[in-house]
Amino acid sequence: MKAIVVGSGASGATIARELSKNGLEVLILEAGGNFKPFTRRVSWSEPFRKLGILGSASNINKIFPPMNSIKSSPDLALFRGITTGGCSVLTCGNLVRTEEGLHQIGLNLESEFQELENLINVTTFPKKRWRPLSREMFKSASNLGLNPESTPKAVNAKKCISCGLCELGCVEGARWDSRNFIDDSCASGATIKINSPVKKVIIEQGIAKGVETSSIMGANTYKSDLVVLAAGGIGTAQILENSGTLTSPHLWTDVVLTIGGVFKGAKMLKEPPMVWYSKQKDYIISPYVDILSHWFHKPWRKVSLNDRVGMMVKLADSAEGKVDYQGKVDKKLSHQDRDTLKKASSMARLIMKESGVKGPYVQGMYNGGHLGGTFPLETVDVKNMRSKRLPSGLWVGDLSLVPRSQGMPTMLLAAAIGLKVARKILESLPETAIKK
Ligand SMILES: Cc1cc2nc3c(=O)[nH]c(=O)nc-3n(C[C@H](O)[C@H](O)[C@H](O)COP(=O)(O)OP(=O)(O)OC[C@H]3O[C@@H](n4cnc5c(N)ncnc54)[C@H](O)[C@@H]3O)c2cc1C
Ligand code: SF4
Repeated sequence: MKAIVVGSGASGATIARELSKNGLEVLILEAGGNFKPFTRRVSWSEPFRKLGILGSASNINKIFPPMNSIKSSPDLALFRGITTGGCSVLTCGNLVRTEEGLHQIGLNLESEFQELENLINVTTFPKKRWRPLSREMFKSASNLGLNPESTPKAVNAKKCISCGLCELGCVEGARWDSRNFIDDSCASGATIKINSPVKKVIIEQGIAKGVETSSIMGANTYKSDLVVLAAGGIGTAQILENSGTLTSPHLWTDVVLTIGGVFKGAKMLKEPPMVWYSKQKDYIISPYVDILSHWFHKPWRKVSLNDRVGMMVKLADSAEGKVDYQGKVDKKLSHQDRDTLKKASSMARLIMKESGVKGPYVQGMYNGGHLGGTFPLETVDVKNMRSKRLPSGLWVGDLSLVPRSQGMPTMLLAAAIGLKVARKILESLPETAIKK
């Protein structure tokens, strides 16, 4: 039995791994090319940055092609990985459980989380290797009653050289990403075709029969017995819209805002980002040097990277946003988002102040990189992990299914959703299609 999996991120790779291990003939179609990490020294950019000629964040793609940026409103930029491994190759390696809004619809991912954590090997980054200022800020957050914790990470500390550039790809191979699962899938007989953006699902008499890709190299069709969309909150919505299935105006992005301060010789980039985090209602706070704001955001221009301190706020934003058939995104910050961000930012500033970090405190760019909610599951869908609105043979297997923003790292959730959907697909197939 032939299956097409669209997308090679945390969800798609997990699905491809599960289906191929169980005897399905899997073809993974990936819009981007093979991932290559950023290998220049960040100091290379300093003269251009100081002169302000790096331009706006939409130029990130020129500096680092796998990272794609979309302006969804005048002050909000969305980022995603269009490459093998999707966003997983751009993460800080945080791997935490998060299930906001899932118990309400009757979805329990406990066993999937457990299985994936064992497979990926989650640990925290040794405290003795944190920068002294990160330890000091952890102490201040504790004193303020914010209960900070070491962040669970998919980072092998023995291999990690503390370059701090996780989001530009890990040259050392110290941080897990979903290409590991793609390798497992290929070892079980799956194939991956890169530079193959899927335009739409081919549907004949209400049944999915394959997909059509469209790129500068031309159009192609691929036939299959089933199709699983795991192209992320934006990609999956775009394909569904092009295939005649309407999506929901409930895109969430977990909006991020980093507050910058100054501490001479802090050298925060000499540790992996986000070594600890503090979870509050609707947001987290975590130490983080925001490279994108450092490169592209005018208020950050005057301070060198060695002295720049950052404290990130990640918000569970209002799920209000829409993707159209061309992939155009309309998503703004709501009044409530702005209010919560304001409250959380003053807490971030307070932690820095209590730790000896000086001003001027500057805001970074509003951005979002956790994309979901565009085809949300309802309670009636959970039993089969599938909406009846989908044509037969078509499945969605990524964060598009998650109804609510998380305000937390979402990679483990994306993989857990993928695993649950893959198992439901296998359950729905005749026994002869599955390898015993
Ligand atoms: C910069 C950044 C840092 C992050 N850091 C963390 C972190 O530390 N911890 C954490 O838990 N989460 C983090 N996240 C979020 C997390 O990585 C994502 O939520 C999660 O990995 C999403 O997985 P996914 O498979 O659903 O989607 P994606 O990773 O977006 O994968 C979708 C894949 O589909 C492909 N695709 C898109 N459209 C098409 C198409 N039409 N045809 C074919 N292929 C297509 C894309 O190229 C991509 O490979 C971060 C995100 C970003 C952007
Ligand atoms: S900080 Fe460590 S895990 Fe992150 S990119 Fe550098 S070597 Fe890799």
